[in-house]
Amino acid sequence: MSLTELPGEPEPLALVLDDAVLDTLAPGFPAADVDDLRISVHGPVFAAGDDGLAAEVTTWNVAIQHTPAIAVGATRAADVCAAVSWAVAHDLRVAVQATGHGPVRNAAGSMMVTTRRMQGVFIDPERRTARVEAGVKWKRVMEAAAEFGLAGLCGSSSDVGVVGYTLGGGLGSLGRKHGFAADHVLAVELVTADGELRRVTAASDAELFWAVRGGKGNFGIVTALEIELVPLTTLYAGGIFFAGDDAAAVLHAYRAWAPTLPEDVTTSVAVLRMPPMEELPPPLRGQTVVHLRFAYSGLDEAEAESLIAPMKGAGTILLGFVGPMRTDEMDAIHMDPVDPLPAWEKGMLLGDLAAETVDVLLAAAGPQVDVPLVMVELRQLGGALARQPEAPNAVAGRGAPWMVFVLGPGIPELAHVVPAVGRGVLRALEPWAAPGCPLNHLGDVSGPDEVAAAYLPATVERLRAVKRAVDPAGVFTFGHAF
Ligand SMILES: Cc1cc2nc3c(=O)[nH]c(=O)nc-3n(C[C@H](O)[C@H](O)[C@H](O)COP(=O)(O)OP(=O)(O)OC[C@H]3O[C@@H](n4cnc5c(N)ncnc54)[C@H](O)[C@@H]3O)c2cc1C
Repeated sequence: MSLTELPGEPEPLALVLDDAVLDTLAPGFPAADVDDLRISVHGPVFAAGDDGLAAEVTTWNVAIQHTPAIAVGATRAADVCAAVSWAVAHDLRVAVQATGHGPVRNAAGSMMVTTRRMQGVFIDPERRTARVEAGVKWKRVMEAAAEFGLAGLCGSSSDVGVVGYTLGGGLGSLGRKHGFAADHVLAVELVTADGELRRVTAASDAELFWAVRGGKGNFGIVTALEIELVPLTTLYAGGIFFAGDDAAAVLHAYRAWAPTLPEDVTTSVAVLRMPPMEELPPPLRGQTVVHLRFAYSGLDEAEAESLIAPMKGAGTILLGFVGPMRTDEMDAIHMDPVDPLPAWEKGMLLGDLAAETVDVLLAAAGPQVDVPLVMVELRQLGGALARQPEAPNAVAGRGAPWMVFVLGPGIPELAHVVPAVGRGVLRALEPWAAPGCPLNHLGDVSGPDEVAAAYLPATVERLRAVKRAVDPAGVFTFGHAF
């Protein structure tokens, strides 16, 4: 199938606003009011027009750039309280950014609170917990926890922020064994629209605690999370790159093999169109390849070897390593890019991965097709990911056995092509779709209704009731707002 044969009209990048709109959304404020804000917070304040504003709010996914009316670089919870109160007093909606890995739309004209200066990590080895402040990336937690033989439920890249990742579900390489990261939250320190800091637990406010774990940034700004860690120092894990020519053989082998694995194993597989970058080893440079990821967190290395063995013969191996790995080296499983890049992305859950599903996926986006997608990924879910934790939460899409996720360049030249192609691939897979999608993988949305559709109707109703109670005026409406 070629690009032009994909169904549907090209869709514009829904979340890019033009300059004329941005201008109307960038109000000025009396200088004295801005001075008051500067006095009341410890971190820097940048108003529109100030040098440093753009750098303060810069994203990792540079496809989306934020143009807030004002930004506060929070250094502590009190700064967040002051920023939210000031914003509400000035009729501003409030956005939050930690690392910029997950912008959904330009937070134009907002008060943007940046949290990257909030870097506290405290590990309690006795209780096997960590208290993690809002700006912390997984890398720091994994390194600090490893000192005590513990690990957090990090995702494919430890460069991602703990808080944003966890509130959106948090699907990582230990997922089938331990569930979503959101399932391991013990307490949420949250600044709500009234400017108050609350410590939310299952005991203090069961409904808000349910909602914020999976409902992401819709209820306020989290200043810190208390999370459970799991006892683990090493796993048997890695990734294998197969030749793109063998994509059909590898994907069909994968779909038959993955369901036979125990919950100790979490896997995914992706068709990757690698850029022709010098930094990449020659077998991968500029090639379309299939990347199998494998993470075994059980105790028996021999078992791990025998579990991965059948896949080693599934196609021509270009490069790869699967073996013992420390928990703070887990980025080597997915090998995600580290440097900022422009990405358009979209995910969907699948209820089944039948032979025909794989054929349709290959016909829509396999190596033999000319599509501008960098990655088409299948993640195996199930296991603990399918079960609610002891204190249930609102993570969307729980229970589906598979997820498909597409990612392409989020650049203006392809703004009408990549979303159309990406959505076209997902449309082709719709016969196997399962309801919902964890917000972290929802990607591009046209608005609140598409976010709401990521949840079951009863869940959205319940989430919206919590939202009305804690944020009746809709102060927090950026990110994946429903
Ligand atoms: C390379 C890469 C790999 C990824 N791998 C995985 C993966 O394996 N599994 C997975 O589940 N996800 C994964 N993600 C998705 C990622 O978890 C989400 O994009 C997440 O939102 C990123 O959070 P952040 O704070 O780093 O990003 P930011 O862009 O800073 O924040 C994104 C959103 O998170 C929310 N948020 C952030 N901080 C706060 C806060 N203090 N209070 C309230 N809300 C907040 C807000 O809604 C905000 O808009 C990946 C993303 C990238 C770019």
